[in-house]
This record gives sequence, C-alpha cells and structure tokens, in this order.
Amino acid sequence: MIELFYHLFLYAIIDTERGAEVDELRKIMGLGNGYKVVKIEEGSDGKVKAKYIHVETKSSKCKCPKCGKYTKSVHDRLKSVKLKYVKAFEQVTYVMLSKKRFICHKCNYKFTEPVTIQGESKSISNKVEQKILIDLRNYNLSLKYIAEENNVSDNTIRNILKESMANYPEHVINLPRVISFDEFKADTKKGKYAFVLNDPIHKKVLDILPNRKKNT
Ligand SMILES: [Zn+2]
Repeated sequence: MIELFYHLFLYAIIDTERGAEVDELRKIMGLGNGYKVVKIEEGSDGKVKAKYIHVETKSSKCKCPKCGKYTKSVHDRLKSVKLKYVKAFEQVTYVMLSKKRFICHKCNYKFTEPVTIQGESKSISNKVEQKILIDLRNYNLSLKYIAEENNVSDNTIRNILKESMANYPEHVINLPRVISFDEFKADTKKGKYAFVLNDPIHKKVLDILPNRKKNT
C-alpha cells in the first residue's frame, strides 16, 4: 500500500493531468468522490517541508439553503482554505480546498457550497479530527505528543475532545450493568491522567474525568 501510494505520488507530482492516477490518490486519501485532486506541491511550512494537495469540489448543482431550490449557477470560486490533513510519509500535509459559491435565481441568494472534509474547527480536516480521537484512546500517548504529531495545539485537542463529549450527560446517573475504566495521559492542570468511564457492551464512552482522584 505504501509503495503504491509513493508511486502514485510521484506520478501526481510529475504530471497532474494523469486523471486516473490522481483519482486513485484521492481514494487513498479517503476523500469522497465529490472531490478532485488538481495539483500537488511541496513547500515549506515554517521550518519544515510540507505537502500541499490542492483539492476542488466536483458539485455541479447545490440546494439553496434559503428557499430549497436547486441551482446550477456558480457565482464564483473562493480563495482556497488551508486544512491540516493527516501526514503523508511523515510529512506535514495540507489540503488546499477550493469551494464554489452558487447563486440561486429564485431568491437571488448567494451561498457557499457545504463540504464534508472540513472539521468542526475550520482549519483542520475531519480526517485529522478522527485521527486525534483515535490517538486519544491510546493510553501510551500524551496530549502533548498527540498535539505535535498532528500539527495542532493542545487547545485544539481539548476542544475536539470536548466536542466529541458534548452529547454525553455531564454526570452519568444511570450506570449500565457493566462498566470499564480507562486512563490516558492528559497532562492537564487538573492531573496527569484523565479517567475514562466506558460502557463496554454498547461500546460507548460514558464520561471523561480530568483526573483519577477519588473526589472527582
Ligand atoms: Zn433560493
């Protein structure tokens, strides 16, 4: 798989017009078929080298969020947004996403098309958010390490964790019959380890406590 990816990467750098190969790259990157890889560049991101993968949306029509009518009229294309992506070959990677603005002829409303690859915090992709959530489950990784590894700040990690917990009650009142505990290195002001309460049968996280002390 890695070899294939490398092979495709070289092709993509040499000639981005090779549609099929670039489309394979899109698939390997986990981008849906609503997207198209148009160009790959290498550049510097501060002190480190980074890959910039330019991606466009392929949508030809879009539903007006105001009146609900579909429109095919593209008003303009917005300047690309830079999204942090998961690393490719241990290199910092960004997706440069170009979004279109449509205009609805029924109500004259101009709107930006919705995209699925942008995460909750607007400068990172949902792929990075997913990777961070997986990393957080690994007991051996510290929050600082996860932040560095994913090229984001400690605060971003906390926000992603908070966001993913938003649907859970602050304190779990009705405990299921079976629960399990987990800890991960959090290194927060409140303690070195965070304490995770799981419902192993329904494979759900019930609560995350800032430390493993009894009074929490
Ligand atoms: Zn409309």
